[in-house]
Amino acid sequence: MKPSCPICHGQANEVANPFCIAHAQLIYPGAELHQFICEACGHGVLRHDIPPEILYSSAVALPTDHSEGDLRFEFIRRNAPLNQVDGVIADIGGGPGELADQARRAIGRPAYVFDFVDRVAAEGVQFIPIDLNQETWRLPGLLADQRQATNLFMLSHVVEHLADPFVLLGDLHGFTNSLVYIEVPDFGAEHGLGSLKFSLNNLDHTHYFTDRSLLQLVQAAGFRVLAFETQAPPYMPAIRVLCTPRRGGNALGDYHAHFAAVAGRLADKIRSAERGREIWVWGLSAFMAQALADLGPARSRVRKILDTRHGRSDYLGIEVITEPDVSPPAGGANLLIVCGSTYSTVQGVIRGKAQAIAPQAEFFAPRF
Ligand SMILES: [Zn+2]
Repeated sequence: MKPSCPICHGQANEVANPFCIAHAQLIYPGAELHQFICEACGHGVLRHDIPPEILYSSAVALPTDHSEGDLRFEFIRRNAPLNQVDGVIADIGGGPGELADQARRAIGRPAYVFDFVDRVAAEGVQFIPIDLNQETWRLPGLLADQRQATNLFMLSHVVEHLADPFVLLGDLHGFTNSLVYIEVPDFGAEHGLGSLKFSLNNLDHTHYFTDRSLLQLVQAAGFRVLAFETQAPPYMPAIRVLCTPRRGGNALGDYHAHFAAVAGRLADKIRSAERGREIWVWGLSAFMAQALADLGPARSRVRKILDTRHGRSDYLGIEVITEPDVSPPAGGANLLIVCGSTYSTVQGVIRGKAQAIAPQAEFFAPRF
């Protein structure tokens, strides 16, 4: 039976990875190694039976190579509301802590590196030991007093090493107001020989992300994407995303209140007009139709409705015309024209036409 994709559950097919096969035989003769690529999202997975203590035997893990330029914090600064960060900066798997230090200097909040070995070289960044495959459940406890804060979590070249990235993201999801930055190598684009300097294809990498599988991961883990970027050679081929735990709801739910608010504002404007003023309605929108219906008998103060699309000669007993009738001349300062649209472009067009035929009139368009 073919394995399924650990990110999207699509069908995965085995492919050859001669570099990893050869390297595996050198460090662990007889190693079983298989690489798969998902048909649906292009995600790659490397499976082997090499004991982790052989792969991670060095006490000092190697840092990621940003020699061609480090654009990570620039992306975070551009896309994250950093002035809202009132919790901690947590660089998870952050190695020497250079990204944590950039964030600390920009935001002025306490900065930590959570990693399996202390390689922190940045002053002012505190190291906290944690096994990112076995112990991420400890994070909520370690940061218990920051659960409701807006923290900045950063996972730079970490997620591709994890056995199951959903576990770590699940533990971060409980920090409902926090921002999460993730960067991984981009295997959704071709790599030239020049990309070998970054050592992206290696036995430490369990996951070979594409832009599609990284977005699938964060969205399936319950996060909302705030920004996304791909980075191409000569930089390291990489993909980065800024996300935050998703809250329920859909903006369509907001429009019930918006409808009542706009119709109410239009009705109030007509109802409160001084006695004796001539009132025109320009634009029979759904908002205006509701306002006129809600006004009841008071809507008889509206002399005419101008609308190009209504198609009938009256609405609730008020005359509807498609073009303004300016004979006798429109009523000067006595005339009140109430625009039915909230759409700024339509308001602009109607305002222009109204000023052309009745420059003295008061023009009212709802603004919020
Ligand atoms: Zn997949």
